[in-house]
Amino acid sequence: MSANNDKSSAAGAAQTTNFLKNIIEGELAEGKFAGRGWAGVPGERSLHDAASADPAKIRTRFPPEPNGYLHVGHAKSICLNFGLARDFGGVCHMRFDDTNPEKEDMEYVNSILDAIQWLGFSWEGFGTQHQYQASDYFDFMYHAAELLIERGFAYVDQQTPDEMRANRGTLTEPGKDSPWRNRSVEENLRIFREMKDGKHAEGSMILRAKIDMASPNINLRDPAIYRIKFAEHHNTGSKWCIYPMYTFAHPIEDALERITHSICTLEFEDQRPFYDWLLAQLRDAGMFSDPLPRQIEFARLNLTYVITSKRKLMQLVTEKHVDGWDDPRMPTIVGLRRRGYTPEAIQLFCERIGVSKGDSWIDYSILEGALRDDLDEKAPRAMAVLDPLKLKLSNWDALFGAGHAEPCTAPVHPHHPEMGERQFKLTSEIWIEREDFQEVPEKGFRRLFPDNMARLKYGYVIKCTGCEKDAEGKVTAVLAEIVPDTKSGTPGSDSVKVKGVITWVSASEGMPVEIRLYDRLFTEAQPDAGGRNFLEALNPTSKTVIQTWVEPSLANAAAGTSFQFERHGYFVADRKDSAPGKPVFNRTTTLKDSWAK
Ligand code: ATP
Ligand code: MG
Repeated sequence: MSANNDKSSAAGAAQTTNFLKNIIEGELAEGKFAGRGWAGVPGERSLHDAASADPAKIRTRFPPEPNGYLHVGHAKSICLNFGLARDFGGVCHMRFDDTNPEKEDMEYVNSILDAIQWLGFSWEGFGTQHQYQASDYFDFMYHAAELLIERGFAYVDQQTPDEMRANRGTLTEPGKDSPWRNRSVEENLRIFREMKDGKHAEGSMILRAKIDMASPNINLRDPAIYRIKFAEHHNTGSKWCIYPMYTFAHPIEDALERITHSICTLEFEDQRPFYDWLLAQLRDAGMFSDPLPRQIEFARLNLTYVITSKRKLMQLVTEKHVDGWDDPRMPTIVGLRRRGYTPEAIQLFCERIGVSKGDSWIDYSILEGALRDDLDEKAPRAMAVLDPLKLKLSNWDALFGAGHAEPCTAPVHPHHPEMGERQFKLTSEIWIEREDFQEVPEKGFRRLFPDNMARLKYGYVIKCTGCEKDAEGKVTAVLAEIVPDTKSGTPGSDSVKVKGVITWVSASEGMPVEIRLYDRLFTEAQPDAGGRNFLEALNPTSKTVIQTWVEPSLANAAAGTSFQFERHGYFVADRKDSAPGKPVFNRTTTLKDSWAK
């Protein structure tokens, strides 16, 4: 998909559907969840069925693995899960999916919680904090495994991994039953308990669900549900040496938390029959009750010019192609935030792209468009010069007296007079943009060239008289004269008509600053498509640091505040590197999409 960011396409995108809303509306109308008990904490049927009716109309969950920083793809999932809960009077659970005994880092846990709150969401609902970790459910999962064994729906398989692979079959051929498939319930229980007690070596056996080795869906060919792993777990320590497989653990986590809608990305579509099979078995065994959670898949976010694989993002950081996880060029939530993205813009973006079942690519300009639409209304304006060239007003001293500084005012926001005015001063020497002067003007050029007049924005009309150059012929200063009685806002100021308006900053009054001009991190729309090396598509000019001058009012810019630098785009005072009275600015985005073809 490709789209641009003009208002008409934004309006078109706003009509994109969220098919999940239709599903939920239908279910609520049918009363599917009415009377469902909720005990206030996760648990089995006995607990929930004895409790009063759930005040939450629906329950969704956001279940990240705490093994990296969240990125813009996760933001879509967050807006979806927390947004649906908000819109339908429900709750979204924050669940850390930490059933893998791999090293978990508190740095990631905290950054995930921060990111969700920053995006404007919360896991509080009906007086309870719904923050959970899947590893707290290991006892329940173990119980579920024994229930399956007891009912003849799971067995310990001692085939070698190679034998298992060979006997799994293919898409066109059915699999073959394991020689261990028909063990008795007693034998299965005994050996599974031995596995739990650490009596068997890693890799020597696994517990499998007993479903159908001839199923056309390979995921139903007796999937593995528990494996032996002698590993310390950050939460449960050395209590366990067997760990559940993700596909077994996830439905149980959902059911324990009485999740109504388990929303996931399309790659789990083929797992849905197992999800449903498992929960139906456990319901029949008395562990859970209807309505069981329902898995619904949606298309993950693919964004052009952006990589959303944690592993590849990690590589960018560790190989120092960027300056950390929160580098303003990173698509991580911390990166977007530091770049100047607002939570409102990210939410708007997620609404505009909608939710669908079909995989597609979203154009990066839609994300930038959402940001421009959000900031245009609220960002204070300021003047900054990005490519400074000195301009000398040669009749200044004669008109005003040497050293005079002329006060000028401008609205903080052109459409919001209530935001007040900004004050700055015009002096005999100012900085202008180098591109605003042409000694020999090209056709149609309206700004400064000898004998032409242009207006200094919020100041006087000036007339260009020439320029100064260095030995190489490079222009080092533009010379001009004030045209008297033309100051903006004074009577008769528009008696002199000019076609060009120039932004400027006083050389003596302006504030020197560092500005980082960020651009897209990759030059290719699909940098990692087809397995290619995404590092080859890195944009060598994705970061340019300049030292220049800005309007003095910006000295008070608080870290994290966004501005529109007139004619240049949106800039934010960097959260990390700004000091009081000495902000550093990041360019968030230009005013128009400079990449549009
Ligand atoms: P990665 O493959 O980058 O490691 P992941 O999917 O393994 O990502 P998790 O921490 O398991 O990351 O994801 C948490 C949730 O975010 C999951 O429900 C997942 O479906 C969702 N999610 C991850 N990436 C995207 C994406 N690009 N678009 C939409 N949802 C996503
Ligand atoms: Mg994952």
